[in-house]
Amino acid sequence: MKEEEIRKRSAFNRYLELIAEDVRTIFADSGSFVKIDCPACGSKKYRSQFEKTGFTLALCQECGTLFVNPRPPGRLLNDFYTRSRSASFFVHDFFKPVAEARREKIFRPRAEYIRDTLPEKSKGIIGDIGAGFGLFLEELRKLWPSAKMVAIEPSAEEVEICKEKGLETIPCALDDVEGWDGKFDLLTSFELFEHLHSPDEFLKKIWKLLRPGGHLFLTTQNGEGFDIQILWEKSKSISPPVHLNFFNPGSIKRLLEANKFIVETVDTPGKLDWDIVEGMYRQEGVDPGRLWRLVADKAGPDAKSSLQTWITENNLSSHMRILARKGK
Ligand SMILES: [Zn+2]
Repeated sequence: MKEEEIRKRSAFNRYLELIAEDVRTIFADSGSFVKIDCPACGSKKYRSQFEKTGFTLALCQECGTLFVNPRPPGRLLNDFYTRSRSASFFVHDFFKPVAEARREKIFRPRAEYIRDTLPEKSKGIIGDIGAGFGLFLEELRKLWPSAKMVAIEPSAEEVEICKEKGLETIPCALDDVEGWDGKFDLLTSFELFEHLHSPDEFLKKIWKLLRPGGHLFLTTQNGEGFDIQILWEKSKSISPPVHLNFFNPGSIKRLLEANKFIVETVDTPGKLDWDIVEGMYRQEGVDPGRLWRLVADKAGPDAKSSLQTWITENNLSSHMRILARKGK
């Protein structure tokens, strides 16, 4: 897989420009921002690393989580995701043109992973938090026609898209879901965890919604992943206030266990780390350092491919996947 197939560089750059404009309007009053302790381990020992689009990134000295601090309150983030120009651009101009490519390259393999890993849930109640266009649930429904698929989605426009696909919908943010406690056999959440004001509250709510023995399947960014570590403040993944939390395999396990989850798997099946670093070097003139310049300039396709395999297999990709369970 190549980055350009699932994320067009020109659209991504325009999206980042719009975010910078939104920051100057929606987030102009930084007086309302909230100072927090480490969102993974609660430590007060963290150090500022750099500033980006007016926000400060801090690194926890105890668990290595990278996080925006201070951060906007939840209510401002809700405004941003429901009403801003960048949010609208994201849906129509960034995501839509690559939606079918993402279905094939990302959502179908995820649905197959769930079918193979959790076969006992094939007739259960499955909820996707932040379901968007409903691509994951559609793909899983093809594999598990007897399961009940529920899209949990706050955006009115995306709720309509999910309804048209015949999915049951809960049209609100996770915090506001009522009447479903103890009902879900499986809850999924893709690329949402990094956006949250409070990951801890999010996990507490999920725990309530799961039935005993129910699973949570989560994907998020790994702050200790290859491309983020090399690019650091130049990384486009770090684009506050869009992404606020960069957990790592150790720190996400710690937060899940503190919330009574049993963690079954934390791995990093990402495939794009090298392609992202090489793209930033070639297309945008970012210097990745002497060794990686050498690899970009002189290594052949097989060497780059085996480097990516090594990154993935050693839990060093910036795309992280977690499977956890609520005890019985
Ligand atoms: Zn920490």
